[in-house]
Amino acid sequence: MNFNPELDTIKTYEAGKPIELVVREFGIAPEDVVKLASNENPIGTSPAVKRAIIDHADKAHLYPDDSMYELKAALSERFDVGEETIIIGAGSDQVLEFISRAKLNETSTVLMTQVTFAMYEIYARQVGAEILRTPSYEHRVEEFLPMMAKHTPDVVYVCTPNNPTGDAIPHDDVIRIIEAADPDTLVVIDGAYMEYAAAKDPAFRLDPQEILSYPNAIYLGTFSKAYGLGGMRVGYGIAHPDIIRALYKMRPPFNISTLSLAAAIAASRDADFVPRSLAVHREQIGRYEAFAREQGLRYIESYTNFITYLFDPPYDATSIADTLLRQGIIVRNLASYGLNAIRITVGTARQNDRLFTGLSEALR
Ligand SMILES: *Cc1c(COP(=O)(O)O)cnc(C)c1O
Repeated sequence: MNFNPELDTIKTYEAGKPIELVVREFGIAPEDVVKLASNENPIGTSPAVKRAIIDHADKAHLYPDDSMYELKAALSERFDVGEETIIIGAGSDQVLEFISRAKLNETSTVLMTQVTFAMYEIYARQVGAEILRTPSYEHRVEEFLPMMAKHTPDVVYVCTPNNPTGDAIPHDDVIRIIEAADPDTLVVIDGAYMEYAAAKDPAFRLDPQEILSYPNAIYLGTFSKAYGLGGMRVGYGIAHPDIIRALYKMRPPFNISTLSLAAAIAASRDADFVPRSLAVHREQIGRYEAFAREQGLRYIESYTNFITYLFDPPYDATSIADTLLRQGIIVRNLASYGLNAIRITVGTARQNDRLFTGLSEALR
């Protein structure tokens, strides 16, 4: 069977290993597996969200409100933006896919940093676009600007904070990128971890209201990380209404399930969960920095809910990740991104204790 030739250039996205796999392959009890590989929220899901999901169980036979009025109203209030500037996706991933299909084709080019979220490339390749990358693995505005001037890409992806490295670009540099972009270049600001960056250093905070004042930029956010709803698949894009209208043409009907919608609305109304989640994170990430110093490991300064440890020979990320996996600890090996590094989602105190014990053994 022949498929579109673009497919030959696409590597299937590899998600973090599931707990079930470690249970099957290594015979470890599920409760003993520590999964620190997919940047999920370690404190779980807010009780208010669980109640909302249960309360909506008897509405599972009904399609959800396709206008997503309540969720848009909640986002509109949170960011002080008009509802006509918002589109909801099944994860912000789906908004990325809408952007690709609305804006790109086989004559297009896209620009991103050397090491960044794998889905940008996959969605762009699906529609035949050419991929350009800056030389450094961290975002450097001085590398973006000349490449933008030279190639006039159709889409520029700015992942700040960046996954899988954890670095971020200051607000002022992001604005420089947007202002330098050609009027027909769409600058995608992926703020999946923005809550963590804003809490760490206000100079890195980006405000969707400011982004949408530019006619060629879109801000993406998600409920999957700080809001603890990875399993419900809800994200959003905020941009000038002209951009939102174009993306709406790509949207399948009822793209968020009734239960996901209820969960995201409840999460938006729960004022306690995100601050609690950020407080646990702040305390625990300090332990990861201290551990790195004790062990003489280099790490990338993190603006996210994970930390990236960089290894120097003879240490090898692949064998370290394997050694951890055998002990039931799942982390993300970044070898496939060309880095001798592992990305570790900052977990609960107990999960992190296991990681530190396992990793010190692996390094010995
Ligand atoms: C997690 C993540 C997303 C979005 O995830 P969804 O669960 O699809 O909302 C987007 N961008 C980056 C960089 C991410 O890490």
